[in-house]
Amino acid sequence: MVTPTHVTILGSTGSIGHNTLDVIARHPERFAVHTLTAHSRMDLLAKQAFESKAVAVAVPTAVAAERFKTAWGDAPKRPDIRVGAQALVEVASDPASEAVMAAIVGSAGLPAALAAAQAGKRVLLANKEALVAAGSLFMAAVRASGAELLPIDSEHNAIFQCLPHHDRASAPAGPAAGVRRLVLTASGGPFRNQRWAELAHVTPEQACAHPNWSMGRKISVDSATMLNKGLEVIEARHLFAMPAERISVVIHPQSVVHSMVEYEDGSVLAQLGQPDMRTPIAYGLGFPERISSGVGMLDLALAGRLDFAQPDLKQLPCLALSFEALKAGQGACIALNAANEVAVAAFLDKRLGYTKIAQVIEATLNWQMGQPEASLSSLDDIIELDELSRQAARRAALD
Ligand code: NAD
Ligand code: MG
Repeated sequence: MVTPTHVTILGSTGSIGHNTLDVIARHPERFAVHTLTAHSRMDLLAKQAFESKAVAVAVPTAVAAERFKTAWGDAPKRPDIRVGAQALVEVASDPASEAVMAAIVGSAGLPAALAAAQAGKRVLLANKEALVAAGSLFMAAVRASGAELLPIDSEHNAIFQCLPHHDRASAPAGPAAGVRRLVLTASGGPFRNQRWAELAHVTPEQACAHPNWSMGRKISVDSATMLNKGLEVIEARHLFAMPAERISVVIHPQSVVHSMVEYEDGSVLAQLGQPDMRTPIAYGLGFPERISSGVGMLDLALAGRLDFAQPDLKQLPCLALSFEALKAGQGACIALNAANEVAVAAFLDKRLGYTKIAQVIEATLNWQMGQPEASLSSLDDIIELDELSRQAARRAALD
């Protein structure tokens, strides 16, 4: 009998976490859940831990631990309960699991994702904010430990699949041989046909109603503003060691082509499929083998047509600001991401108008660019600038 791969899921109660458990449950002989973590919804965490026979869970506070115990009730084999932010780092590097799904939302997920990379795990990386804030540090950790990094973000997973087989390193030193350009597709989100100035009164419900993908609320808003695509360009820059000017974005409303790689000879390879995150998750879990994911067939005749268009940066200020941040450097990328997290949380809480999200990001970038250049070589440096940027963003949100 083959021993199963033990998988830890950071952020199991979220959209990616849920889909990961779904794929794992289809392959009981291949995978066993080790640790599940969540920041809230202890009843759901208890249900997931029970169904997946998790060995341990990690929760943020003692109060959350009590809630977990209550939700567990007197069912047998209660998992070990780990508490606090440091517990996340510990479970991510625990030798008992070989693979870690990094699916916490936001830069809050960075320390644990980095710990998994440092510990040499198979890291299934959904948490793009970790790479945006700390791309160089993260990729250096992958290189140093020999971790196996598999991108789960659908665009990056598509690109990974389309790269030359012999040149698909976890942390490449430079662009893959023969590749001219990476092309990220973007659906354009729910407001694709509207002008930015018309969107001032958009509600969180409207912004979260993504036409093709079902995702957590933060990334849904990011998809609507297309800041998400900006984060993804920065993510691609690090994952594939590709200069920014060789990464482009094309609007593709159907979300069938998940991204493309253009080669020197003019060939363009694309990965297509239904917009369902279980495909990239199954790819990451099974790599290099292909395993079933529960995703149905893609019927191109039913899709009928695939459209592509150039994004209009004048109508997409968040995407334009991302390109500026990428050009300016890591400090600006940290500020961009932190400001966006603050602004989107305020928007979801109905404390900030939708179009103000771009204003808060712009003001925070301006603040960061006026600061003396800080060293960003350690996790502590990065967390400090992230926190200062959040403070600047909160001030900007009050204006
Ligand atoms: P989600 O909001 O649905 O879930 C987030 C998870 O993180 C939850 O389990 C939550 O409890 C946990 N969490 C939240 N704040 C935390 C904190 N401060 N500390 C510890 N844990 C915390 O988000 P999601 O849509 O599953 O996205 C997760 C990550 O994957 C994001 O970085 C997102 O950009 C990326 N991603 C998601 C999708 C998707 O389809 N949902 C696609 C590509 C990339
Ligand atoms: Mg994506």
